[in-house]
Amino acid sequence: MSKLTKQTTGEAESLEQWAILVLPWLPPSALSAAASTCRSLSRVAATVNSRRVADAARGLEIYPIPFHNPTSDPTPYSYFLYSRFPFSSPPPFCQSWGGNLSRPATNPFSLANFISSVTTVSFFSGCDCVGCSIDGGCPCSGFDDGGGIGVGSLRECGVHCSCGLECVNRTTQRGIGVRVKIVRDLKKGWGLHADQVLNKGEFICEYAGIIKL
Ligand SMILES: [Zn+2]
Ligand SMILES: [Zn+2]
Repeated sequence: MSKLTKQTTGEAESLEQWAILVLPWLPPSALSAAASTCRSLSRVAATVNSRRVADAARGLEIYPIPFHNPTSDPTPYSYFLYSRFPFSSPPPFCQSWGGNLSRPATNPFSLANFISSVTTVSFFSGCDCVGCSIDGGCPCSGFDDGGGIGVGSLRECGVHCSCGLECVNRTTQRGIGVRVKIVRDLKKGWGLHADQVLNKGEFICEYAGIIKL
């Protein structure tokens, strides 16, 4: 009897070790299906879920971006692919999220990958400033107010410029430098909220969605 118990415990541990590697790759529906099969998978799935709720950014940003759902809707988080840079096409099929790495060892959606996807386009050119400035000194810098629709865009140094990531004209490329959270609203769904006091004009993040006017 004790031998049987020992063997069962060992099998459960092996299953959990396997699950820790595999379950973070599953979308919510498959994750809950796996959790319903046995207690070992249920435990690992609960950990994966709590890590997902704690950081939508998968450890890729300076600060975690937590989900907060004060509504009666039980959805704990929104599932999507997360990247700090535009995806090269085609976008990845899936992304590990909620595993035991606090910060991914490698970021498959990195600036280096993004650069390699655009450097083949020959008409891009960059500046060769000795210290770029954002007050007109650097030809790359600029701001477009969007023609009065209330949403502007920044022009920044790029992959063909001689400057590095520390350049003052690369604000958006350094990621989200303020604390934000994703909050659930019963009527509007998930929305991004500030989680600290923001200064007027302070950069929050790049908006990469669709603007409906
Ligand atoms: Zn420059
Ligand atoms: Zn430049």
